[in-house]
Amino acid sequence: MSTRRKLVAGNWKMHGSRPANAELLATVLAARPFTADVAVCVPFVFLHETASTLAASDIRWGAQDVSAQAQGAFTGEISAGMLAECGCRYALVGHSERRALHGESDQLVADKAQAALGRGVTPIVCVGETLAERDAGQTEAVVKRQLSAVIHHLGHCAAEMVVAYEPVWAIGTGRTATPEQAQAVHALLRLQQQAATGHGALMRILYGGSVKPDNAAQLFAQPDIDGGLIGGASLKAADFIAICRAAG
Ligand code: PEP
Repeated sequence: MSTRRKLVAGNWKMHGSRPANAELLATVLAARPFTADVAVCVPFVFLHETASTLAASDIRWGAQDVSAQAQGAFTGEISAGMLAECGCRYALVGHSERRALHGESDQLVADKAQAALGRGVTPIVCVGETLAERDAGQTEAVVKRQLSAVIHHLGHCAAEMVVAYEPVWAIGTGRTATPEQAQAVHALLRLQQQAATGHGALMRILYGGSVKPDNAAQLFAQPDIDGGLIGGASLKAADFIAICRAAG
């Protein structure tokens, strides 16, 4: 039997406002307890307020990115130390929107994951193939390349990261990987981690890509799917709560 606790993490992306966040978080807080671990990854500017709102609860918070640098002349960047000061438990790293829109390479993603771990912030490392890559039969090669860059950079600490498998063609499109498609990729990522670190059985691997209340339970029932990274549905309290409940 798996000893991995399920984790459901919301990715608010560049959405939210102080009043909307207050209402969303109050509704989620009122719906506790959840069996799964629950977290929200919010825009940097909302971290302090999110931290005060959630501090007395078991819901965790995190950022959507982190700098690979510790400090210095890097205008606009936010360091892992700053995230740690805001009490962040998690930081998303290598989300496909950052890889595609901000040119983040596998190496930069690995550097960011290392910077986060170095300050006690757990990186949620996102990997996933585009539709063209899937159609060309390259899914396995792509996700293994993306994960291996991080595993090799982190060495034995790789056991501490969370991985999110997010097929790019399923993000924000309403098109979800079938539970079988997702499970197949999760299983190979776990094997890869196991072969590299011996800790594959401990690593949490989340599925992300148009997870909704009506498909969450089937996805989370797969043996290697340890919860979800939830974009659009994490902004609707009722949907996010239903997905958290579907995780256990
Ligand atoms: C995401 O942004 O990580 C994501 C999975 O988005 P959505 O759930 O909206 O597809």
